This record gives sequence, C-alpha cells and structure tokens, in this order.
Amino acid sequence: MAIEQEIFKKIAEFSTIIIHRHQRPDPDAYGSQGGLAEILQTAFPEKKIYAVGENIHGLSWINQPVEIDSKLYQNALVIVTDTANQPRIDGKHFNEGKFLIKIDHHPNEDPYGDLCWVNANASSCSEMIVDFVNAIQELQLTAAAARMLYAGIIGDTGRFMYDATTPHTMRVTAQLMEYDFDQAAVNRKMDNISLPVARLAAYVYQNLQITDHHAAYIVLKRETMEKFALKDAGTAPIVPLPGKIIGIKCWTIIVQQKDHSFRLRIRSKGPIINELAKEYHGGGHPLASGAVMADESEIPAYIKKLDAIAAGYTGEEND
Ligand code: AMP
Repeated sequence: MAIEQEIFKKIAEFSTIIIHRHQRPDPDAYGSQGGLAEILQTAFPEKKIYAVGENIHGLSWINQPVEIDSKLYQNALVIVTDTANQPRIDGKHFNEGKFLIKIDHHPNEDPYGDLCWVNANASSCSEMIVDFVNAIQELQLTAAAARMLYAGIIGDTGRFMYDATTPHTMRVTAQLMEYDFDQAAVNRKMDNISLPVARLAAYVYQNLQITDHHAAYIVLKRETMEKFALKDAGTAPIVPLPGKIIGIKCWTIIVQQKDHSFRLRIRSKGPIINELAKEYHGGGHPLASGAVMADESEIPAYIKKLDAIAAGYTGEEND
C-alpha cells in the first residue's frame, strides 16, 4: 500500500487526531499543520481534530493553534508536520497518543513515528499536504486550506526564489490558486515588516561582516535585540538579507538567546552548509540550516569554518 494510503487508513480509524509542528514555527509549519487539520475536519466533521502548539502573534493570520488537555492523547492519532527531529516538536505530549505519524520534507535524520512519510525533494511540507489530498480520493481542498498551504509554500520557497522550487511546486501552487482566497493579500502579509524589523534590517546591512572568501555574518547580542525592542522571532525577516548582496556565497545570523547561548541561522546560495550545522548540534537543508552554540568564544572558529566552506565552493556564483 502506498504510504499516503497507509496514513489515510489510520486517519479513518481514529476519532481524535492531534496535529503538531515544530517549535519556533514558520509559515510552512503553520500552513501544513493548519491546512491538514482543515482538510481532515472537512472530510470528517464528526472527528475531533486539533492543531496544537504555541500561538505566535506574527503568524496568527495563517491559523490559530490551540492548547489542549493532555488526557485527549489517550486514544488519539498524533501527526507531526514539517519537523525533522523529535526535540524540535512543539508540545511535549506528542508521544502520548496511540499512533504517531511523521510527515516532513527535511532530510530524514530522525525517522520517528509508527509511520514516517518524508519527501526531501518537496519544497515544503505544505506541498506534501496537497500531494496527500491528491492521492486520496476521499479528501478535498477548501479555500481556507488552500490559503494556509499557499502561505506555507511561498514561505519556504521565498516566494519561488529558492532552489527547492520545482515545476511540481508551481503546479501545486496553481491548483491552490483555483480556490477562493485573496492571494495578493497573503503575499503582502508575507512581505510586511514592522518598523522595529526595518530598523534591525538597516543595522544588519550596516554592521555585516564579510570574510575573505565571501561568507557574511553578524552577531545579534541581547542588548542589540533589546535596543530594537525585538525578540528572537523578530530575526526571521532579516535572515535572507545578506544573500541579496552580490558575491556573498553563504552567511550566518548569530542570535543570542535569553540563556545567553546562541542560535545559529545559516543560509547559502551554493555551498552546502548543513554539515556545519550538524557540528553545532543542529541540522537542516543543504542551503538552509540552523544550530546552537553554548558560548561566544566558539564564534571565531565557527566563522573560520564557514569561510572555509565558501572558499571550497567551486560551483557557479549564484547571484
Ligand atoms: P532556521 O534558521 O531556524 O529557520 O532554520 C532553518 C532550517 O534549519 C530549519 O528549517 C530546520 O530544518 C533546520 N534547523 C534549525 N535549527 C535546527 C536545530 N537546532 N536542529 C536541527 N535542525 C535545525
């Protein structure tokens, strides 16, 4: 039986379905989770279906996840979307259901779950949810689901700019656009930035450091973030900015956390950077990864490694 059919068989069996996604969610986490919940609720109005997790202010226009009583897990099917490894799952009860399913598009480093469907060639988990609907006769899209999934796809592809965008991504997007939602409004929402983020963007461009071999980096310490009245989530819109500069091959935004550790956000226009992320307890896609660092003293060695990766890159300049 195809994996989509196996997943659907489980969905049909359970009357309670709880859908999780990753911590520090992005539009694809919200879109794939919310889109799947909406699709399943439409097909099975009698089932209790919950999209759970912390409700992030900047993403609440996509969907509003809920917090639920842990007792609900006792007889539930749990599905986790867009989350490569278990420590990154938002919500500590995900393992307390009767059956666990992973649906994801990141490299399958941690194949958790009783059923695991991973397609690392998909642009986004939202794209996979459309594939799922298309594979299952009993399921159909709705305008509300199409809007969430569209937001997820344009989020993870940088509005079709990144490598992960395929002809299939565009076909799936075209399918979503057939539904009645305000696509231009979603595009605007995804492009909007607050004034503090705009000021942080200016700071990033002003203070960006460039290594000998065209890797770029900036360290955003607690005091800087406080000066701009921004929390960690406020860094998301500035992560792509160094990549707009001609000649920059790869870059990292290093963000100090409340506990004074550092979050490493790493991006690339060609050199493979997820092996570097793994060295720092992280991982991710070849051109978009994240990791963590305990202490500031490790930063110079980390930047040297990123510079060496840029130096070793012989592929085309991808400006
Ligand atoms: P971010 O910079 O946090 O948006 O992360 C980019 C990508 O890197 C995510 O989509 C994840 O695939 C991956 N990633 C980020 N942080 C981690 C981590 N701590 N462990 C494993 N993968 C991560």
